[in-house]
Amino acid sequence: MIKIVEVGPRDGLQNEKTILSTEDKFQFISSLSDTGLKTIEVTSFVKAPSIPQMADATELFTRVKNEISNKGISFPCLVPNLKGYETAKSLGVKEIAIFTATSDSFARKNINASVEESFERMREVSQEAKKDGILVRGYISTAFGCPYEGVMDVTKLINVTKKLFELGVYEVSIGDTIGVAVPKQVRNYLKDLKKEFPVEKLAMHFHDTRGMAPTNIYVSLEEGITTFDSSAGGLGGCPYAKGATGNVATEDLWYLLHSEGLETGVDIQKLSEASKFILEKLNRSSESKFLRAYLNTGKV
Ligand code: MG
Repeated sequence: MIKIVEVGPRDGLQNEKTILSTEDKFQFISSLSDTGLKTIEVTSFVKAPSIPQMADATELFTRVKNEISNKGISFPCLVPNLKGYETAKSLGVKEIAIFTATSDSFARKNINASVEESFERMREVSQEAKKDGILVRGYISTAFGCPYEGVMDVTKLINVTKKLFELGVYEVSIGDTIGVAVPKQVRNYLKDLKKEFPVEKLAMHFHDTRGMAPTNIYVSLEEGITTFDSSAGGLGGCPYAKGATGNVATEDLWYLLHSEGLETGVDIQKLSEASKFILEKLNRSSESKFLRAYLNTGKV
């Protein structure tokens, strides 16, 4: 069984220009919760003006918590700092995600802190979460390449991963934030990471910006990875390459996994309908080649 971490409502929508109503976001998450997905990242507790799409985090999470019956689904939320953590905790969030990068230049532009400083914030948050019994997942951006620093060395990735595990995260999601990773690099980095960490505690977060995501996923499967992040319909563009593709689509991931005989527990018809709904609200077409073909033919 492969675990899919659906990041469309958060990572996907955060990078969409059209600001959706809370109702539409809720309907999207509600539909996703009927597909068999077991982890759906809901929102991010950032300062309201910094990411307008996430300004309704409190209202949205409250609706998800109150109105979506518990089907054993985890609804994690991103938490950038202690303030965000306190809000998440007060709303009953059971799992949070904290985030950093391997590149200082990227971290400074993205979160206004060096990698080292980001660990100070994450340390405060993870210490509180531990006391409160809240699960913590760690994200690493620019694991393979950075828009400012180019190719990132694997030793940086190993160091940041190690420090995240020291904070007590249960899993580290390794992000190819700008979609530059290529299969040979993914294989080599994973071989090095596996010398240091149990492979079952690593997740891969690929972007399909340069069309390499499915191949990188295939290589990761061969290296023993069993958890992948993806975004329904391929929601979310790439902020570092205007008009380009961001997160790999959950539908494309699903098709690859099923072609390998790997179970996901996800109903592709229901997933496609959830994606179709939100893409219509965004007034855009899907980046997912599989989804486009499926919607046109009705066939897998
Ligand atoms: Mg992403």
